[in-house]
Amino acid sequence: MPAALYRQGRLDGDPNPNPTMLTERGKVQTSKAIKDFVLCRDCEQLFNRNGERYAMSQVTQKAGRSFPLLRTLMGCQKTKEAYGFTYYGHRVSPMVERDKLGYFALSVFWRAAAHYWSRPFGKHDQIDLGWHQEALRLYLIGLAPFPKEMMLYFVVCNDPFSQNRFYTPSKSSHPGNTTTHAFQARGLNFLLMTGNDITETMGTLCLMSGLDRWIMVRSCQDMVAGTQARLEMQAEIGKLIGVSRRQN
Ligand SMILES: [Zn+2]
Repeated sequence: MPAALYRQGRLDGDPNPNPTMLTERGKVQTSKAIKDFVLCRDCEQLFNRNGERYAMSQVTQKAGRSFPLLRTLMGCQKTKEAYGFTYYGHRVSPMVERDKLGYFALSVFWRAAAHYWSRPFGKHDQIDLGWHQEALRLYLIGLAPFPKEMMLYFVVCNDPFSQNRFYTPSKSSHPGNTTTHAFQARGLNFLLMTGNDITETMGTLCLMSGLDRWIMVRSCQDMVAGTQARLEMQAEIGKLIGVSRRQN
């Protein structure tokens, strides 16, 4: 995850000012970013230029002082409302750089799949994107269009709880042949669906390939709290498995 997320999450003046990070291995308060030397400088700069710099300028800024992307959307005419979501299509919000936000998210998912990152709780399981990983790599370096059997779903969270949290990519569900991975970056919630049974209706919701390139706004508190609970439970189970392994 970008170092900027750790900086923005610090609570200056607090006894422990470090942001809380959640992974499948546990919860930790740290400003130490998960960092390995994996990519060359050119690739790092490509990722930065094509998405990360812009995305980090749009997340909730320190201590919830402002949330530039949400503020921009609130100033736009909404396209529609349904099921608690407010939808903004690209025609009503052309100033939002969707290519960059999407590229940023896809580069985070790809990095989580391409390498075993060292984490505060030791080596972490990679996410498994299967053959989609290579399709994503080719897209990121500009050698292929956005992969067909993939959908990126983007929600901007309008609740303070989600705006102050971030977590690394993890698998959130696996109904049928579609796998969903998700991550959260201070008010930006991204879900990546991969599979060969992505329907046309699901495809229209895609930030990258959908006709209206929807951005959805809603409270993500239940979803983010649910993920937090799931990650905490996985971390507990991981500890128990670790204990029983040591005892055997
Ligand atoms: Zn490179």
